[in-house]
Amino acid sequence: MISQKYKKMLEGKSVIRQLSEFATERGKAIGYENVFDYSLGNPSVPVPREFTDVMIEMLKEKNPAELHGYSPSLGIPSVRKKIADSLNKRFGMNYTENHIFMTSGAAGAIAHAVRCVSDAGDEILTFAPFFPEYHPYINLSGAVLKVVPPNTEDFQINFTLFEEMLNEKTAAVLINSPNNPSGVVYSEETIVKLCDMLKNKEKEYGHEIFIISDEPYREILFAGVKAPYVSNYYDNTLSCYSYSKSLSLPGERIGYVAVNPACKDSEYLVSMCGQISRGIGHNCPPSIIQLAVAEVVDLTSDMSIYERNMNLIYEKLVELGFTCVKPGGTFYIFPKALEEDAKVFSQKATKYDLILVPGDSFGCSGYFRMAYCIDTEKVERSLAALEKFIKSEYG
Ligand code: PLP
Repeated sequence: MISQKYKKMLEGKSVIRQLSEFATERGKAIGYENVFDYSLGNPSVPVPREFTDVMIEMLKEKNPAELHGYSPSLGIPSVRKKIADSLNKRFGMNYTENHIFMTSGAAGAIAHAVRCVSDAGDEILTFAPFFPEYHPYINLSGAVLKVVPPNTEDFQINFTLFEEMLNEKTAAVLINSPNNPSGVVYSEETIVKLCDMLKNKEKEYGHEIFIISDEPYREILFAGVKAPYVSNYYDNTLSCYSYSKSLSLPGERIGYVAVNPACKDSEYLVSMCGQISRGIGHNCPPSIIQLAVAEVVDLTSDMSIYERNMNLIYEKLVELGFTCVKPGGTFYIFPKALEEDAKVFSQKATKYDLILVPGDSFGCSGYFRMAYCIDTEKVERSLAALEKFIKSEYG
């Protein structure tokens, strides 16, 4: 008999994927340039030229056996060292290469981090709104995902409900700032309060509660906004990073776990990741991609485009009467829909060729997500469609 667990998952097809498929089909009919597809978080800004140049140079000059050979299971030591040095310089940390484990994007990083700090039946708490893939990331590891309801006022943490949900079984808290889908960056006040609460609970329960900090948008920050580096505030932190967004390399599948050197049992965790890989069939990212990324470790794509898009959309939304928290980073915005059921709202929007994702799957009904990693020219054209939609349906 085939696995009932995975067969059942086929019933829960991702809403985001369905909408994106709809956009592709509609594009075939009217031209994709006329579909205002805000569904997918696929970066639209190109990778920096330096990355491409490094790749070309390596392919021409380097020994093919090294370039295309197996990576050591924890990642290439020189790459891990460059990443550790860069983090130390930027965030005042003291990582060595032994604290860095190379992964296939943030997805791979979270898969390892979760397994490092939990056993079957342990609870991992996250905060709505949250990236829906956390469900499979956590639940298929044997741990159990629990979602703290949102604080819709500003999308910082709802501490009252969080404290009620913490218990002896809490092994870790999974946070994501800058956040998908809200675009909100947790303030230093939020991080300090979270860490203080967890330190007290660690004492009360007599065991560690780890923070898994999912930070693929760490560098996509808008003017004047700072994202606190969580490891600076909490020893038991595993940072999960990805180059998918900051370097626009989602197809290359590259990221890492950085274990805070002060974390409990830090000397085991990266080696344990190597053992976890054996079980889940994860292989380190391709050697060539590791080597190339290490050469551009302090660069990012041109993030100003996302900020320009955000400002255009935010201003239009406010003008049209939406309630919306202004994003501090990412390429997402998460306004309140103009009717209670955001699924109905998003369905109506498709009549105007606007593809908006209802917030239900992010654990926040009544809101919708726009992923504005699209050309600014298209964003500008979409604003007229948005206005027509709102005036015709809700005017
Ligand atoms: N975490 C968050 C919050 C994301 O938005 C994404 C991708 O969109 C991921 C993790 C997975 O990232 P990756 O493509 O690097 O595996």
